[in-house]
Parts: sequence; C-alpha cells; structure tokens
Amino acid sequence: TKGNSGIVHAGYDDKPGSVRAKYCWRGNQMFASLDRELRFGYQRNGSLVLAFNDHEVKTLRELLKRGEINGVENLQILNREELFELEPSVHPDAIAALRSPDAGNVIPYEYAIALAENAVDNGVEVRIRREVTSIQKVRGKKDGDGSFEIGMRHWEPEEYVESQRRGKQPNVVRRATFCSIALSTTVAIGMGIYMLLDPKVDAKAKMDTLYTIVALACAGFGAVYNYLNSGPKIASSKIPFDQLVERVPRPEGGDNSGGGASKKVSVEEML
Ligand SMILES: Cc1cc2nc3c(=O)[nH]c(=O)nc-3n(C[C@H](O)[C@H](O)[C@H](O)COP(=O)(O)OP(=O)(O)OC[C@H]3O[C@@H](n4cnc5c(N)ncnc54)[C@H](O)[C@@H]3O)c2cc1C
Repeated sequence: TKGNSGIVHAGYDDKPGSVRAKYCWRGNQMFASLDRELRFGYQRNGSLVLAFNDHEVKTLRELLKRGEINGVENLQILNREELFELEPSVHPDAIAALRSPDAGNVIPYEYAIALAENAVDNGVEVRIRREVTSIQKVRGKKDGDGSFEIGMRHWEPEEYVESQRRGKQPNVVRRATFCSIALSTTVAIGMGIYMLLDPKVDAKAKMDTLYTIVALACAGFGAVYNYLNSGPKIASSKIPFDQLVERVPRPEGGDNSGGGASKKVSVEEML
C-alpha cells in the first residue's frame, strides 16, 4: 500500500538470508492461484535485466547466483542472439540479459483492495481512521495465544468534525427559545420584586409570583447552560466504539471459493 510499481519479483536480487529472500520466490509462485481466487488481474510476463558491457554481465552472474541461493528457479543468462530472438525491441546496445520467466505484474491498487475484501469475507473487521500507537503481545500463557493488544488514536477527517460541529450549534428555534425565556425571566424577576414589595398585593399573589420567578429562572438557567455547551465537539470521544466499525457486506452470491460467482465490492462500498 505504500509504494509500488506493480512488479511481482522473482527473488533474485534479495539479500540471501533476509526475510524478503525467504518469501519472495514462494510468494511469486502463489500469485497465479491467488489471482484465480481473488481476480485482481495478474500477468506472468517474465523479466529481463539487461547488460551493456562486460562489467554488467558480471553483475548478471552475481544476480543469477543470488537467485540460486534464494531458491529461485528457471533463471537463465541469455547472450545477445538469444536476447534479440526473444525480444527484438530491447535497446540495440544490449549484449546479454538475465531472464526470469516467473516475474510478473499486477495493478497494486486492485491487489491491495482484493486482499482487504477477502480478509473481510473471512471475518476481519476493517477499522479506518485509526493511528496505531502501540502493539504489544498479550501476556499470559508461556508463548501467549498469538494475540496482540493494539493501542490506537482515532483520527477524524476535517469534514466529519465540521459536520458534527454544525449539528451541535444552536439553530434558529433554539436561539429563539433561549431569547424568549431569558426575556420572560428578566421581566418576571422585575415584576416579581415589584409585586413582592407592594403592601397592596395579597399573600397568595405574592406566593404565585415567587413560584413563577423560580420556575422561569430555572428554565432560563437551563437554556443558558444548554447554549454555552453547544460549541464544537470532537466527535470521536462521543461515538460508541461499535459504531466506528465498518463492515463490508458479503458480495451477493459470494461463497469465498473463488469460483467466479461472487461480484466485487466497490471501493465506495468498502469505505
Ligand atoms: C516507489 C516504490 C516502488 C516499489 N515497487 C515495488 C514493486 O514493484 N514490487 C514490490 O514487490 N515491491 C515494491 N516496492 C516495495 C513495497 O512497497 C514494499 O515492500 C511494501 O509496500 C511493504 O508492504 P507492507 O505492507 O509491509 O508495508 P507498507 O506498504 O509500508 O504499509 C504500511 C502501512 O501502514 C500505514 N501506517 C504506518 N504507520 C501507521 C500507524 N502508526 N498507524 C496506522 N497506520 C500506519 C502506512 O500508511 C502504510 O499504508 C516499492 C516501494 C517503493 C517505495
């Protein structure tokens, strides 16, 4: 997923003993059947490493030797005549070539997406918008159970945070409600104080006024509190974890067998 020119290498240039050297040839040999199962598009077109002088011919021999150490089969050094018979369009100054009939090519995007789709078909849950911050082996049994604990940080795209922010902002109705309650509270408090101090007003009317003041003041404070808490929010902290798990539906008629009946899931469906 990082960078790729789509070559399915044969494994003759990997440093012997390295992990790449160990898996390259074995992986190369899996591509044809993998393509039959996942249908990402694969061509086994072979490769030619060209040499233009004696020094480079020496390098071809080194690559051939490396390949043999790595277990790569079918490698062959072609002389000029053999090279041009096989591929007349190569540079006319080439004098020899290392040929690997097993090198191939894929469209890296299709390949990566096919692997992700297949993983999901097999029960993997894809969790996007995460930055992994730690990976630790789960302790317990002697060798553990092969599980890992992954620490991660949610990362939300700007537009998503913005849409959440818009959703939380007070709308016209809420603003109007807030203003009317604040206004009536102010009026009620003003009138109430006037009525409470007025000796001509009887005790029942005074108590009614007091109740009204308390009720409206509570509503007013509630509205102010609500208003002050309606600012921007980081959505991720509020969303239950389950709802952030994206699941890809199994393709209609798909049976995981790669028998050709299943339809591909589009990138949009996946995301
Ligand atoms: C220009 C170029 C061309 C290449 N061409 C070929 C080729 O033709 N054939 C070939 O076989 N190989 C090629 N390679 C090598 C190939 O790209 C790598 O070997 C391969 O991508 C390694 O795969 P990976 O899955 O191990 O790692 P990566 O492809 O590097 O994938 C790691 C992923 O993890 C993500 N990531 C990193 N840190 C975090 C984090 N903290 N939280 C969450 N995600 C994170 C990265 O964004 C990345 O998407 C090429 C490399 C380059 C640079």
